[in-house]
Amino acid sequence: MTKPTLLTTRGPTVAEVNLRAFRDNVDVFKTIATDSGSQLMAVIKTNAYGHGVVPIGHAAIEAGADRLGVTTVEEGVLLRENGIDVPIHLLSSTNTSQVADAVAYDLTISVSSQELAVAVHAAALKQGKTATVHLKLDTGLHRFGIAPENAWDFCRSCYHLTGLYWEGIYTHFSSADEGDWTTTEQQFTLFMDTILDLNEGGYNFPIKHAGASTIAIERNDMHLDMIRPGIALFGYTPEIRQQNKLTLKPVMALKSNILLVRELPPNTPVGYGGNYVTSGDEKIAIVPVGHGDGYKRVLSNKGEVLVHGQRARIAGEISLDQMMIDVTHINDVRNGDEVVLMGEQGGDAISARDIADKVGSIVDEVLASLMERVPRVYK
Ligand SMILES: *Cc1c(COP(=O)(O)O)cnc(C)c1O
Repeated sequence: MTKPTLLTTRGPTVAEVNLRAFRDNVDVFKTIATDSGSQLMAVIKTNAYGHGVVPIGHAAIEAGADRLGVTTVEEGVLLRENGIDVPIHLLSSTNTSQVADAVAYDLTISVSSQELAVAVHAAALKQGKTATVHLKLDTGLHRFGIAPENAWDFCRSCYHLTGLYWEGIYTHFSSADEGDWTTTEQQFTLFMDTILDLNEGGYNFPIKHAGASTIAIERNDMHLDMIRPGIALFGYTPEIRQQNKLTLKPVMALKSNILLVRELPPNTPVGYGGNYVTSGDEKIAIVPVGHGDGYKRVLSNKGEVLVHGQRARIAGEISLDQMMIDVTHINDVRNGDEVVLMGEQGGDAISARDIADKVGSIVDEVLASLMERVPRVYK
């Protein structure tokens, strides 16, 4: 969101992004990649899972990432405009209306249809370039990708297109996070068999890759030429079971201040619908964070925040721009006191995973949902 230019102050709600923690996490995966003889692609799609794609892109490269992965052409071009010159992959499919931009900014395009291959080839010729592309195979996620049984025909019609350089081939697993190794191994075998088959036809792809965070952490037999971790770079393994396998640091904290403290008598309904009612004399504080900031409304009457290092429950429905919290048990709470909605305070901590568990979601959604109006402050 654009800020009014005459404003000289900042509201109390900020998302602190710890770039050192991020670089340390990248370094962990750089070591894993190096041990496997693989490259490291830092996946920083969705505005770097909410952390801000440009500062995170620079930090990833400083910490040793060989390449970056995003989904939209906009993110790729933004990175280029900010001076990033390593390969940037578009991990989604690209709309033909944006192919010319993707080629002009030297983004590495994922190809999963003949129509797209032809469009990229045409745009490349027009610009006097060769576009670098990776073939996406669909081994079972059934999102993007050429079906393995069609790969040969696809290559017969598209591999020779002179505007294209087929640098790589890849797939994306459907059930690795769930730890379903039977399905994952079947997909991996299908991927490798298809590649061998294509090689026999003279269709070669120097960089083969398949693994996101889970594979990077748990299955070094599937690292191939490159690993593609995303969420783990931001401090959270996709699943709890992986937590003890490596040391990662959460990168984002969400903080605000108390706007107002109120003393309410017993039996006072609080918030929309009055579904929270004070049981005795209660001290209720207002925090200027709501579901309009991306703090999920299902946390109403359920979520917790930290004040003076102690936990305070959300009281009543979260509204668009604020929430009420019960601070009756915490001494001396005043206007302006710091509230930590995610992160550490006074020896206690609330993680994105704690919030995800309460929301019934995953860490990715909790982080990426944080709205743009919450300023990211880089440390
Ligand atoms: C999102 C994504 C990744 C990264 O996944 P994580 O589970 O966040 O590590 C890797 N590859 C592709 C194709 C993706 O879409």
